Amino acid sequence: MEKKQFQAESQRLLELMVNAIYSQKEVFLRELISNASDAIDKMYYKALTDDSISFNADEFYIKISRDEDNRTLTIADTGIGMTKEELETNLGTIAESGSLNFKNANEIEDGHDIIGQFGVGFYSAFMVAKKVTVETKAHGSNEAYRWVSDGVDGYTIEPAEKTETGTVLTIELKDNTEDEDYDNFLNEDTLRTIIKKYSDFIRYPIKLDVTVQ
Ligand code: ADP
Ligand code: MG
Repeated sequence: MEKKQFQAESQRLLELMVNAIYSQKEVFLRELISNASDAIDKMYYKALTDDSISFNADEFYIKISRDEDNRTLTIADTGIGMTKEELETNLGTIAESGSLNFKNANEIEDGHDIIGQFGVGFYSAFMVAKKVTVETKAHGSNEAYRWVSDGVDGYTIEPAEKTETGTVLTIELKDNTEDEDYDNFLNEDTLRTIIKKYSDFIRYPIKLDVTVQ
């Protein structure tokens, strides 16, 4: 499969993520929850204006699950999803609002402030992930795709099996080091605390699946 390279600016943001200090890494959840929420917003507004979409408030939610054996965290949403082209442009390049903030703050040498204060976006997943997989099916499309990246070597996109519209993002956590206990992000209480801290403004239910052991 062909590996594609990130755009130069994305590369720079990724480097900043990799070098983030441990105490800042939890904001990846803020960013991924806010992306999931944005995607559900888009679906929600589409449903309001398009009679052909059945509207059921119960169907709009974000689900976070963990798998301790495989050391993965999954953030799933029932949002609008992405087409193959959108995967390419949205996750391979920096164009959107959160990342725009980063561009403005580009001059700041110490990236740590940027990570805490600004929306650093999707790439923040790489603060904790050695590999990120995004499986997604766009509203109105029959095809699903899988985007995979280790954040360093670029990314691949391939067809995937997914029946429901929406996006499932899986993080394979980095290996623990002496200073950094990534397993902490699999801990139910830790997750609950981080999610509460950063999801005040989220108006969809966030389900924390704790049955995976
Ligand atoms: P921002 O949220 O500021 O636009 P991000 O880096 O967080 O920047 O995300 C980049 C883009 O990727 C988003 O604008 C959106 O188009 C797309 N995206 C990210 N996560 C999702 C998701 N869960 N569902 C649909 N699209 C997404
Ligand atoms: Mg975002």
